[in-house]
Amino acid sequence: VAVRGTLPWREDSSVDSKTETKLTDLIRQAGLAPRSSGSLAPYFIVIRGGTPGTMLPLSVEGTTIGRSPGNGMQILEGSISRTHAKFFVDPEGEPRITDLGSANGSFLNGNLIEPHVPMRLRDGDRLQLGSLVVIKFVRLDPCEERFHKEMFDRTVRDSLTTLYKREYLFEQFGPLLTRCIGLGLGVAVMVIDIDHFKAINDLHGHDAGDEVLKEVCALLRHHARQDDLIVRYGGEEFVFALPCPNIIRAVERADVIRRAVEQRNFEHQGRSIRLTLSIGLTFTMADKNQSITALISEADKKLLEAKALGRNQVLSTSSAANTINQRVRRDLLTSTSATIAKKIGNAPAYSEGFQTRP
Ligand code: GH3
Ligand code: MG
Ligand code: MG
Repeated sequence: VAVRGTLPWREDSSVDSKTETKLTDLIRQAGLAPRSSGSLAPYFIVIRGGTPGTMLPLSVEGTTIGRSPGNGMQILEGSISRTHAKFFVDPEGEPRITDLGSANGSFLNGNLIEPHVPMRLRDGDRLQLGSLVVIKFVRLDPCEERFHKEMFDRTVRDSLTTLYKREYLFEQFGPLLTRCIGLGLGVAVMVIDIDHFKAINDLHGHDAGDEVLKEVCALLRHHARQDDLIVRYGGEEFVFALPCPNIIRAVERADVIRRAVEQRNFEHQGRSIRLTLSIGLTFTMADKNQSITALISEADKKLLEAKALGRNQVLSTSSAANTINQRVRRDLLTSTSATIAKKIGNAPAYSEGFQTRP
């Protein structure tokens, strides 16, 4: 009653049916109440196989599911056909599934369905595609929709940084390679590690470390493009996998990230915190089908070398790319000192100033 009393549209002191309707409207507008059954959002949710929890909305145009990358939902599982089945809405507005002649069949609530014959779907129906993948068809009100999305995010994302967890990289690397083949590109893999991060914790406290870590991740994400994959691989270590035409371009992108962190003034409780990154990098043409673990291990070796060489640098498996990057870095440093020299103009030379101090 207290809540109703504060509602702005309340016309008199009695709670009439009109006010009740308006209250319901307000709740609905806020996305708190279930939609009417006609407007519940239809989804397919992966229960087993692929990444469980993955949600595929049923669109009016329909969507296909299968092993190849052109599908609305790609599931890399051996018993799934390249284009296994199609989900769509029929002219009466009813959701349906058609098996597209898959090798291992589709099962609706345990029964094998005939290929190329559309089958009607009802809320809660369970679909098995091939021998392993299980998908559920559900209609969700906004509350459930949010709940499922949040639960899915919790399984694939790290809670501190909200970056994907490493398992997501293993799941998604195959589809990324396939996309790169389609685009005629290679793929670069970077292992990024914050330099002397333990010292940040020791000096400023663990909370400051957490804050800095979050900011570094936001910055990494800012530098990621739509197709790039970036995950928190370990404590202060990240893996960045990205489509790229060649290793020189990949090293350039890595160095942009390195410079952005080097130049950033992180702050915690009014105290300035500076840090740097070391990055190990490798590159492969996508059609070579190299495994993500092999690529990470190559990039990790380069990361260790970058640490040994003094940190705050990008080191790749290509010495030509490293030489070019060092040259660019030197030029940048020279132009930066030239800019500083120009700015200080007629001010006393640095050396004079220093000479007066012990
Ligand atoms: P190096 O330059 O050799 O990489 O030195 P480092 O100090 O960064 O590396 P080391 O492996 O010795 O230490 C990593 C530190 O990162 C230790 C650990 O406490 C800290 N760390 C890892 N995860 C987190 C986190 O989530 N929050 C905070 N605050 N610290 C973390
Ligand atoms: Mg470190
Ligand atoms: Mg580390």
